[in-house]
This record gives sequence, structure tokens and C-alpha cells, in this order.
Amino acid sequence: MTSNESVQPTGETNTSAERGTGRHTSLRLAAVPAELAPPPERGVRIIAIIAVGVMIAVLVWAVSRPIKPHAEPLVWDSIAPPQSTAIHPWRWIVIHHSASRRGNAQVIDSEHLNQRGWDGIGYHFVLGNGVDMPLGRIEGTFRWRLQQHGAHAGALPQQKIYNADGIGVCVIGNYDNEQVDPYIEQRLVELCAQLIDHTPTLSVGRIIGHKDVPGKITACPGKAIDLERLRFLVREELQRRGMMVR
Ligand SMILES: [Zn+2]
Repeated sequence: MTSNESVQPTGETNTSAERGTGRHTSLRLAAVPAELAPPPERGVRIIAIIAVGVMIAVLVWAVSRPIKPHAEPLVWDSIAPPQSTAIHPWRWIVIHHSASRRGNAQVIDSEHLNQRGWDGIGYHFVLGNGVDMPLGRIEGTFRWRLQQHGAHAGALPQQKIYNADGIGVCVIGNYDNEQVDPYIEQRLVELCAQLIDHTPTLSVGRIIGHKDVPGKITACPGKAIDLERLRFLVREELQRRGMMVR
């Protein structure tokens, strides 16, 4: 018993009194300790707990989802090799995926260097998926800066030319089993448009997937990267930005 204990006359009292069973008995039955009666603020507390839970869930979702930067459209200056370096007469843009959930240029560089014994990352560009590298970030590698041949198309004799004259673009992600984020697609389109605009030997028809390289048995860049759609979007981008469509 605490000081909260109270006597709460109920409807029963009146009913009992009316029946003539005695007010005393009825009052004893109606005495309910306050701690047994549901406190009025209990419901409010439950609602508050649920509200806090929902707020935490929303916060966790907001923090964990990739932030889409409101970047300006890609400009040539942000990817241009040093002025003293002439643009190589590239003949293809070869699209790859990393076939991994995460990655960045540095990670691929050390893999290609240490595990494959190459002279560093085989691609010219890496496009981030927001895990180890900001979503939509385009990073040119040393091969692009030096306008040097790639190491991404394969080792067979008929593939050599695609390494020599193909710009290797690696999109981080596994597009065999995940959809392409619209922002990644947009950045890929912008990159291809800039490369075509500044390389007279390139054209929209020369955007290919790794799987299109002769003799290559691979699904790269994955079925979610639709090359036909990419070419269509690049054509649109060139038109929209007043660049020559070729
Ligand atoms: Zn590939």
C-alpha cells in the first residue's frame, strides 16, 4: 500500500445502494489500489516509445543510404589529361563492372599490381557506387593521364587492339545481380559524351561492353548495364549539350 492508494467509488456503489445491500460492503469492493489501475500516462508513454523507435529507424535509413550528390554535369576540365599530353586516337570505350559490391581505384590498382602482376590498375576510369567511393564519382587513373594503353580487354591476340585503343571504364558494382543506380547511369552517359566529344576517332557506336570484345567469354559488365540503352542516352546527351553527334 502506498500513499497513491485511493478509494474509487464506482457505479457499483449506487447500484448496490439502490438494491439495498448496504453502502459499506459496496465501498469495500470498490476500493482499488491506484497502482493496479492503469495509469493514464501509460498509453502516452507507449506512443512516445513507438515514435522514438520510428525516428531512430528513419535516421538509420537516412544515414546508411548512399547520398546522391547534386553534382553539376561532368565537364571536360575535370577529367582532361595534362595539356602537354596529346589525346590518343582511341577507337573504343569498353564498359566493365567490378563484379563486386564495393571498390575504388586504389583497391583495384593494388589488386592488379600485386595479384595479377600488371603495371597497376588496368582501367582508365573508375566510377564509384557510393560504398568505397562517392556515388557517381569519376576517377581517371594514371593510364588516362598518360594516355597509355589499358589492361582490361583480355590477353588473346585478337583482344590486344582493344587494350591498345580501348578506354577501359570500370563501374563499381555487380550488375549481374543488381540494378544500375540512375545517378551512376547518368554519370556514365556524361563520361562517354565527353570522351566522344574530345576524341575525333570515337563515336557512339564504339561504346561496347567487355563481353563484346572478340574471343572474350564474360558477362561483364553484367546484364543490368544495357549497352543499347547507354548508346541511346549518350546520343541524347550529345544533342542536349550541343556537341556533335557521331
Ligand atoms: Zn570486364
